[in-house]
Amino acid sequence: MKIQNFINGDFAEPISGNYFDNITPVTGEVYSQIPDSDSSDIDLAVSSAKEAFKSWSKLSKNERYDHIMHLADEIKAHFDELVEAESKDNGKPEWLARSVDIPRASENFRFFATASLHFDSEIHEMDGKALNYTLRQPVGVVGCISPWNLPLYLLTWKIAPALAAGNTVVAKPSEITPMTAYLFSKICQKADFPKGVINIVHGYGHKVGDALSRHPDVPIISFTGGTATGEKIAAVAAPMFKKLSLEMGGKNPNIIFEDADFDNAVKMSAKAAFSNQGQICLCGSRLFVQESIYDKFRTAVIQETQTLKVGDPKDEKSNLGAVVSKPHMEKILNCIERSKEEGGEILTGGNRVILKGNLKDGYYIEPTIIDGLTANCKTNQEEIFGPVVSMIPFKSEEEVIEMANSTKYGLSASLFTKDVSRAHRVAAAIDSGIVWVNTWMLRDLRIPFGGMKSSGVGREGGFKSLQFFTEIKNVCVKI
Ligand code: NAD
Repeated sequence: MKIQNFINGDFAEPISGNYFDNITPVTGEVYSQIPDSDSSDIDLAVSSAKEAFKSWSKLSKNERYDHIMHLADEIKAHFDELVEAESKDNGKPEWLARSVDIPRASENFRFFATASLHFDSEIHEMDGKALNYTLRQPVGVVGCISPWNLPLYLLTWKIAPALAAGNTVVAKPSEITPMTAYLFSKICQKADFPKGVINIVHGYGHKVGDALSRHPDVPIISFTGGTATGEKIAAVAAPMFKKLSLEMGGKNPNIIFEDADFDNAVKMSAKAAFSNQGQICLCGSRLFVQESIYDKFRTAVIQETQTLKVGDPKDEKSNLGAVVSKPHMEKILNCIERSKEEGGEILTGGNRVILKGNLKDGYYIEPTIIDGLTANCKTNQEEIFGPVVSMIPFKSEEEVIEMANSTKYGLSASLFTKDVSRAHRVAAAIDSGIVWVNTWMLRDLRIPFGGMKSSGVGREGGFKSLQFFTEIKNVCVKI
């Protein structure tokens, strides 16, 4: 089966005519072909988006709302197909795609269509002499570049606000998980979505992503992915003065104080470490536990982890499915080996899992807990992005804040305590864009979402997204 690009409302082969293999991590088999597109496909997509911008940006908010809500409904109408495809392409359990990924993809459109109706602008009155008002206008053709861990969820998290703000889009999904983006383009065509407003070009990052980032007719880029890729995009975009939103990697601390609700902290720590096979940018991969409860907590979190089942993504009882690809599995296993060389002890897990039957060549890894490493070793400084968590004891609040802030990342953090004052104090002291207290990954789409330091530039979510996807213009009228 050949995936196709979606340009100006039609499906298109890549101009090169070349394709490469799409492998399902569930079985390790090739099951479809991905267009090996390049800058000439991007040129076509951008010119179609540029043309469509002339009419889309002129529609009333209500007209755009109707079109976008239609997409939200159509995603729901194709729910089961999308769930199955996301799980097969990415390796995640179907129950997870059913409860998180696909509902959220639909919700992204619903949320931003509605938000655009409530979005307001500012007025600055000058003592009866003049009135300033601020227009927020669409920017133009938006380049949306997304990763493989939450494929349709994150792609639509960009496309939806970009469209709601009146822009048109050229999207570049991850070449590792292109299938739901392809199905989504079929949905756009079936929904009779205005031609050229959404264009999707598949292929490798260094070809398609790079061509999109450097295209002179794309003045704004929203990127989610690894920090090294973000660096490359920023280097291309900065001299062209493009608007840029970067959502990148994390090495998030999960901090357990001795007064925490113990059972909740244990459950949340395992959830934060292993959800989506540990492949969420927000996963808590460094588990700091106060010394006085360290041994008890370690025993409990090992027990909790050992109840987790790695298995067939179709099986409702599988807590973890496959990691996304063979190279990624090998990277994770190498990181586990490196942690041993650094002096770490594997408390549980640490190995590839070979499942039975046609799953035997799939890419499965045991949920893994490491102990005995210092906060500044590579295992505790570099993003692994797999089902691996490292435990570190701490004595005091000051010490844990210093260790938590010691990486180059600053995306999210969780802390567990019953002491309200401490919760506020530590939340304020942690260098990260998002802090959860006594929970993890509780998401409200209105909040500012994003990271500090090497985890991100700018914030998405709610009106922050609509602000990013619009250009500000102040008009001063003398009275
Ligand atoms: P990646 O950086 O390898 O790829 C992301 C996207 O960028 C893909 O579509 C890829 O094709 C494209 N790309 C690659 N090279 C490019 C280039 N030179 N120019 C333009 N585009 C290019 O990331 P990944 O491996 O797909 O995703 C995992 C990473 O994403 C992790 O680091 C994770 O933490 C991060 N992530 C961050 C967030 C967040 O919100 N902060 C969310 C999810 C994932």
